[in-house]
Amino acid sequence: MVLDEPGKPLRPVDLPDPEPGPGQVLIEVAACGVCRTDLHVVDGELSNPKLPLVLGHQIVGRVARGGERFQPGERIGVPWLGWTDGECRYCRNGRENLCDAARFTGYTLDGGYAGLAVADERYCVPIPERYTDEEAAPLLCAGLIGYRALRMTGDAERLGLYGFGASAHIVAQLAGHEGRRLFAFTRAGDEAAQSLALELGAEWAGGSTGPAPEPLDAAIIFAPAGELVPAALRATAKGGVVVCAGIHMTDIPSFPYELLWEERAVRSVANLTRRDAEEFMALAPQVPVRAEVEVYPLAEANAVLDRLRAGEVRGAAVLRISGP
Ligand SMILES: [Zn+2]
Ligand SMILES: [Zn+2]
Repeated sequence: MVLDEPGKPLRPVDLPDPEPGPGQVLIEVAACGVCRTDLHVVDGELSNPKLPLVLGHQIVGRVARGGERFQPGERIGVPWLGWTDGECRYCRNGRENLCDAARFTGYTLDGGYAGLAVADERYCVPIPERYTDEEAAPLLCAGLIGYRALRMTGDAERLGLYGFGASAHIVAQLAGHEGRRLFAFTRAGDEAAQSLALELGAEWAGGSTGPAPEPLDAAIIFAPAGELVPAALRATAKGGVVVCAGIHMTDIPSFPYELLWEERAVRSVANLTRRDAEEFMALAPQVPVRAEVEVYPLAEANAVLDRLRAGEVRGAAVLRISGP
C-alpha cells in the first residue's frame, strides 16, 4: 500500500521486490502495526516524507535473506528508528534518537505496509517467543515510545495519561507493574477508552477537560491536541513533569506562568534509541505486557487509518500481511 502524496488515500500497487543493501536484511512481513504517526504522514502534518512511500514502522516478519546478525527464518521486528550516522554529537553521547541525519522507517525509509521490507539489521530487534506476530507489532512503537515516555516521568507515583490509545494502554500495564497509581484522561464521553483504562488498572478514568481527582506527579500526553498541555499542567502537582509523547501536536495555547511555576516541567520525547528497544523488549514479556489488537488485512489500510482518525480503535490496530 503506497502513499503517493499526503492527503490522498494509500494505493494498492505491485512493486519490484526490494533488494537488501550492505548491512540490510530482507524481511517477509507478517504483520505491521498502525500508528498515529502514520496518520500524521498521510495527513501532511510531517514534512518531507519519502514519496512515494510505504508506511508502517511496527514491522514483525521473518528474515528471508539474512545478514550477519540475523539468519533466514528468524522472527524480528523493525521499529521507527531505521538508521543513524553514528558520528554526530548526539550519536556520540548516547542520544541517537536525536541524530542529525537519522532515517525513520515508514517515513524517510519504506516501511511495512507491504509483503516484503528491507531494514538495517543493526536497528532490528528479536521478537519475544510468547507473542504472536499481531501482538508483537504494537510493542515496536506504541510500546517503545510509551516506555521511553514513562522513563521521563522518573519515579512519579500518581501518573496521568492523556489519550488512551495504543501507547497508553501499554504504558498503563508498565505503570501498574511498577506500582504506580494511574489516572486516564480521554475525550469527554469516550466510554470505550475509559473502560479499557479501568480494566488495565487505572483507578480513575474521565474527561481530559474536567478536574483531576487529585494532583498528579507526572502526566504523559499521547493525544495530538495542544490544549492538553495547559490542562495537564493544571492537573500536576509542584515539581511535576508533563511529557508530550507524540511527533505532532496542534499549537499549544498560551497559559499563565503560574501553571509552570513551582518547578513543573514540560518536555517532549522524540524517537527511540536501540537501547530503549532492547530494554523494553526484555521487560515486556516479564510484565507481561498484553497488547489489545484489532487485526485487519493489508488491503483495508485506508479504512483502518480512518478508524484511528475517528478514535474508534480499541487498543492498537494491526495489519495482517502474510503467513498463518
Ligand atoms: Zn509510531
Ligand atoms: Zn547521529
